[in-house]
Amino acid sequence: MAWKIKDGLICEEEISTKHNLRLFVTTRNFGNMRELEQRNILAKTINLDIKNLVYGEQVHNNEVFVVRDEKEDNYIKGIDGLVTNRRFIPLAIFTADCLPLFIIDPVNRAVGLLHCGWKGLSLNIIDKGLLMMKECYNSKMGNCCVGIGPHIRPCCFTVGKEVMDKFNGKDGEKKTSSSWSLDLGKVVKRELIELGIKKENISICNMCTVHQQEHFFSYRRDKEKNRMMSLIMLK
Ligand SMILES: [Zn+2]
Repeated sequence: MAWKIKDGLICEEEISTKHNLRLFVTTRNFGNMRELEQRNILAKTINLDIKNLVYGEQVHNNEVFVVRDEKEDNYIKGIDGLVTNRRFIPLAIFTADCLPLFIIDPVNRAVGLLHCGWKGLSLNIIDKGLLMMKECYNSKMGNCCVGIGPHIRPCCFTVGKEVMDKFNGKDGEKKTSSSWSLDLGKVVKRELIELGIKKENISICNMCTVHQQEHFFSYRRDKEKNRMMSLIMLK
């Protein structure tokens, strides 16, 4: 399984094709996806109906919202994750360095999308997201497949003791007496496996949002409001 850049989108085609989904992360080519106008340009360009797009406020917490019906341009306050088993309702999150996590249950035809920064991870958003999949759709972790989109890699993610203390020491490397490089991908992968996701069902994108300026917005690098959009939709 591998992530590739195609027509300005970062795609995991094996997952999308096998499970009949739209699944991608935009590159900076499509501009700031927080803006409705830019999203409409994207929708037109890639021929995708996003009028039922659902997205959350993203407050770096662990709340996951269950999408049950269609509403136009649905903005949900106070959440960082979404799950649904409804077809043609695109779920979206916006990131610039944080880690987008896609969950697919091919057996019960349900999907989830989580916004994972270090704060959300330390509040166990992954545990919460998977629990919602189990409770709402009877998902079995052994059947689920997970995609980890582009995020800030350890090459660029230097953190202090207050952050590192919230994680397993094995997920970071000590740089100086007071700084560590934290590997969010490693944190996430370890947690997923502990929660029952099979290693072979995890596809991680190894691109770095900070390093690869030509493709990505990065909050850490640019301190700007621009965001990429991760989207998943059951077809
Ligand atoms: Zn980097």
